This record gives sequence, C-alpha cells and structure tokens, in this order.
Amino acid sequence: EVPVLCVDGPTASGKGTLAAELALRLGYHYLDSGTLYRVAGLATRRAGLEPEPAHEAAIADLARALPLCFDAGRVLLADEDVTDAIRTEAAGMDASRVSALPAVRTALTELQHSFRRLPGLVADGRDMGTVIFPDAPLKVYLTASAEHRAERRHKQLISKGIPAILADLRADLEARDARDSNRSVAPLKPAQDARLLDNSFLSIDQSVEQVLDWWRQ
Ligand code: C5P
Repeated sequence: EVPVLCVDGPTASGKGTLAAELALRLGYHYLDSGTLYRVAGLATRRAGLEPEPAHEAAIADLARALPLCFDAGRVLLADEDVTDAIRTEAAGMDASRVSALPAVRTALTELQHSFRRLPGLVADGRDMGTVIFPDAPLKVYLTASAEHRAERRHKQLISKGIPAILADLRADLEARDARDSNRSVAPLKPAQDARLLDNSFLSIDQSVEQVLDWWRQ
C-alpha cells in the first residue's frame, strides 16, 4: 500500500508551497493536480475551443490524451514549454471552467492515480481527499482568509515584476472559489475525515511542522 498525503484547499491557500515542501521532507513524489487542469484548459484554447459545456466531450478527449511531460520543474505540452503560460490568472480561470465538466474530471483520473508510486505521494488539489485518493491516511484541508490569500498572491506577482491590483486578485480568487465550490462534480470541500489547517497566521515552517506531526501520529 503506497501512502498518500492529501493537501486540498482553495486558490492561493499556500497548498502548492506546503505540499512541495512536505514531498521534499518525506522524500515522496508530488502531484500538483491543478497543473493538469491548467494544461487541459490551455490545450482547449489551442484547439480553438471555448472551455464550455457545449464542448465537454471534445475537451475530455484532449484531456485524456494530453501530450504532457514534466522535466526539471518545467511543464511541456507536446514539447512546448508552457510553464509560464499556465500560471496566468486567465489560465487559472480556464482551468476552473474545464474542471467543472464531469467528463474532463473522469478523463484525468487515471493520470492522477498513476502518480501513486513508492515510497509515497503528496497530492495537492481540490478533491484529492474526497474523490481521487479517498483511502489516504492523512487529508489536510488548508484554508486562509480571502484577504490573506489575495495579499500573498499579490506579493508573489509583484516580486516577479508582474503588475497586479490587489482588489482584482481578490475578486478573481473569490470568483474561482465560488465556481469550484458550487459545481456539481467534486465540489471544493473538506473530506469528512480531513484535518483543517488555517494558515492565515502561520509561517510555511509552522504549517509544515503541524502536518508532519499529524503524519507521524
Ligand atoms: O490549484 P490551481 O489554482 O492550479 O488549480 C486551477 C484550477 O483547477 C482550480 O481553480 C480548480 O478549478 C481546478 N482544480 C480542480 N481539482 C483539482 C485541482 C484543480 O478542480 N484537484
């Protein structure tokens, strides 16, 4: 049985940072499931399609056969480096739109399961604990207030020299959370057996230590 540690939560809650650090500390594989939906969204645009229910079957076909490759921290789609292209706010919104289509979620399930390899996996997303790895021994649901999340995203962008407006970021992330929480399939919510962690006032180190404490229990 390959152990899985799930880290779910809303946009910009710090899931990615926490999950990557946990994977490093435990020596486990790392699945950033949001990347898969982001790439599916980009592939949809590249195919000239709107990320809409009308194209659900076609988008699911694209998602099932994504020519995707992870190489030294870069994400390649059919040999094109899309690492930066999938990180824009627009790409996040497209990801959220394709991810609301049930056939697309089904199309990406097998790929996500394939990341579960020895010695273990840290899986980051929205439905890792509820849908993809329901038998995981530890599920963490990470939250932070919308204000804190928007501020973090703002700092991140500014530090990269990308201009950003705090109020717009907050409106965007609240819109994305609303869509992710209200969709009919795999809505964003803590698993019944999830541990809730609000990191509004925690450093990354404090969050990592808390989860490692739970993991050792
Ligand atoms: O985590 P990230 O911001 O990269 O995810 C982008 C979008 O992909 C999310 O807003 C969500 O709609 C979708 N997603 C999902 N299920 C996951 C991971 C991401 O629906 N497991």
